[in-house]
Parts: sequence; C-alpha cells; structure tokens
Amino acid sequence: MASLLKKIVIANRGEIALRILRACKEMGIKTVAVHSSVDRDLMHVRLADESVCIGPNNSKDSYLNAAAIISAAEVTDATAIHPGYGFLAESADFAEQVEQSGFKFIGPSAQVIRIMGDKVAARDAMKKAGIPTVPGTGAITSKTNIKKVAEEIGYPVIIKAAAGGGGRGMKVVHSEAALSNGIYLTQSEAKAAFGSDKVYLEKFLETPRHIEIQVLADGNGHAIHLGDRDCSIQRRNQKIIEEAPAPNIPEKLRNKIAKRCVQACIDIGYEGAGTFEFLYQDGEFFFIEMNTRVQVEHPVSELVTGVDIIKEQLLIASGMGLSFKQNDIEIKGHAIECRINAEDPKTFTPSPGTVNLFHAPGGLGIRVDSHLYNGYSVPPYYDSLVAKVISYGPDRESARLRMRNALDEIVINGIRSNIPLQQELIRSSQFKQGSVDIHFLTNKLANTTT
Ligand code: ADP
Repeated sequence: MASLLKKIVIANRGEIALRILRACKEMGIKTVAVHSSVDRDLMHVRLADESVCIGPNNSKDSYLNAAAIISAAEVTDATAIHPGYGFLAESADFAEQVEQSGFKFIGPSAQVIRIMGDKVAARDAMKKAGIPTVPGTGAITSKTNIKKVAEEIGYPVIIKAAAGGGGRGMKVVHSEAALSNGIYLTQSEAKAAFGSDKVYLEKFLETPRHIEIQVLADGNGHAIHLGDRDCSIQRRNQKIIEEAPAPNIPEKLRNKIAKRCVQACIDIGYEGAGTFEFLYQDGEFFFIEMNTRVQVEHPVSELVTGVDIIKEQLLIASGMGLSFKQNDIEIKGHAIECRINAEDPKTFTPSPGTVNLFHAPGGLGIRVDSHLYNGYSVPPYYDSLVAKVISYGPDRESARLRMRNALDEIVINGIRSNIPLQQELIRSSQFKQGSVDIHFLTNKLANTTT
C-alpha cells in the first residue's frame, strides 16, 4: 500500500466506522478510531490500532469538530482521513482543512464537494453535462417573478434548500396562495439548519421512484459505474429499504443515464466514490443531487457487482487507481438492504438504551453490517441506524425471501426497533411486485393510522 495510506483516521462512528476498519485491516492499513466520550465502547474503537477521544458527546463538539479530528491525525502520525457518511463527509471546508494540514482527504476535492453541496450549482453542472434535471428554477432572489415561474412549471411545486440534506429543508406547495409562505418557511428552516437561506423551486413529481447510480472515479480521467439502486421506500425523505438493481427499468435507459454519469465524473474531475440521485417517472430520469461520499446503501451494489467500494475508495486515494474497468463490471443477481433503526416502529420516536441481547441473522446470501453487541448501549445523541441487514439472491424473489427469513431471525432486545415495520414491508404485495414510488410508505402509514 502506498505510503499515503499507511495509517488512516476513521472520522465517523457506528456501522460505517466498523465497515471502513474492516477494509483497512484487509488491506494492511493501520487505523485510528476517533470518538466522543460516550462512544469509547464502540466496536471499531476496540478493534482499531489506536483510538483518540475527540470531545464530548454532542456531535458538534466531537464528530463535527474538524480541528479535533485533524489534531488526532497529527498526534497519531496518520496520513489520511476517511470521513464515512454524514457528519463532515460532505463539508468542503473540512476537506480543504484536511488537505491544507498535509493529510489526504479520502474523497473528491473540496472544490467538487462545494459545487455538489450547493444543489443549485449541482443542477447547473449536470445540465451542462447533458443530464436531465427536474424542471425548476435557479436560486430564488427578490427579483425572481416566482408566481409566474411556479405557474409555468405547474403546481404542486417543491421549495428546496440549496444546502439541504438528510431529507430536511423541503416544502411542497400546492397553490399560489401558499407560495410566499412556503418560500419564507423553507428559507428560515434552511438558515437555521444549514447556515444559508438559499432556496430554489422544482416541480413536485407526484409518483416518482428514487433511482441512483453508483460511480467510482480516479480523478484522472478514469471512471466507472456500478449500476443503479432503487431507494424509493422512504419515510420523511429518509431511505428505509434499498435494492439493486432497480426493478423494471429498461436496460437501454439505465445504461444511457449511467454512461452520462460516468462522463460527468470525468468532466468535473471527480475522485472517489459518489452517487448521482434521480427521480424516475414515466420512463424519464431527473437528476436531484449528487452525494460526494460513500452511501449507507452501498452494500447492495457491492453484492451485485462483487466490488468492495470502500477498498476502491482507499485505492483511489492512494493513487493506485481503480481495480476495475467498465467491461469487468457485471450486474449479477439481486440485493436488498433493510435499515434497522433504534426507534419505535409505530411512533418513530428514537429508542436509545442498552441492548441486552443481539442476535444477527445468517445463512447463504445474508450480510449484516452492525456495530451492535450484547450489552452495548445505543446513545441518544446520534443517528438511530443500528444495523443494516442485506440479502443477496440469484433473483429478486430469492433475495426477498432470504430477507424475510433474516428479519424473522434477528433479535435486538432492550431497545425498540423498526424490525416489525420492515417485516411488514418485505411481506407486502406492493414490495413483492417491485417498483413502488417514493410516496408508498407515507401513504401506507397514513392508511394504517386512520
Ligand atoms: P436530501 O439531500 O435531503 O436527501 P434530495 O434532493 O436528495 O434531498 O431529496 C430527498 C428525497 O425528497 C427524494 O428521494 C424524494 O423522495 C424527495 N424529493 C426531492 N425532490 C423532489 C421532487 N422534485 N418531487 C418529489 N419528491 C422529491
């Protein structure tokens, strides 16, 4: 392994920190786990070569504390920093500080992160690359004749924060009467949550599916895609179940959009793993955003392609480039991922606490990415994701049946989780059929509560 990756700091927690640690160990890279006070007992902290407490429990004092993470890299003599997903993974400022401090940031350049972090700029860049976007506006200013524009696009419309993320900073507006207030509310929410009140408007698609393309690029003109994923089963714009490949997408269309994504990566000098997110409706793809990092749902693409995405991220960062050419990539079989969250399955309120019994399911075609162990305490400070159950089969129905069995086998006692909801979803006739739209779960939940 190139000296650039002699020792890396894993600037994250939970399952993804463990996932990164596993890839590093396999590749002979030394690891430094950085953690908040409460996280000293995390599984990857125990397994890392070294660990550094970077601050108190609140994320802003620890996992979002760039200076503390960079100091940890300095004191341990590390060479690179892997940001995982969430926290600082898509902070252009962080990527810049890491590089300026003499460490390799495992991901694209700060400049590329900055463009893609501004959804208005990202839409512009994609349009230039020939990728279709949802009909909409640029940044809304006091000069925009917003009523006229909205009327032209047609209601309903959605007001979105340019800096938004995690499903926040979006408001659907159904009529002109609600337009000004919708803009005002999104601006205020965006300012408070993301520090920028820049908003724009898009056509609100009524029955789209969320389809995304996984890419890997070396930053030097070589890029490939690993096919698509369907992430339409969402609650409050947060994904719950993902699968690869996306069912019922014409092969020609899938290849065409994937090729454009690859070309866009080459055009913008993209480096690392990334995802182009689209809404797909009536046989058309519309770009919504690009995620410049590894995603929670990356395992489904790994299972259908055999590519270890984290390992490729590390190889790219080391300067060794990609291990695959596009022709080497063959999509085989089907994979499904169910996110297991520590939350009440009906009210969705977070359910932190001590897990007194954890039993992971197994068998052919089952993978579990989780940091849980017996006696582990899920802290109340962070995201509620505690496990990802991933199934693989030669076809969609085998993957679904393996998932159904796995969800019946998994045991997480001591806290509440959304396992009952996942069991119900995986058995539902709509999921069995495939290709539900992004509103499926919201509608289903609304119908069961009334
Ligand atoms: P975030 O960065 O917060 O994840 P995205 O732009 O990726 O935001 O959108 C998240 C989800 O919100 C999408 O997967 C989709 O369910 C919904 N959404 C976003 N834009 C639209 C739109 N124009 N029409 C309908 N739904 C949308």
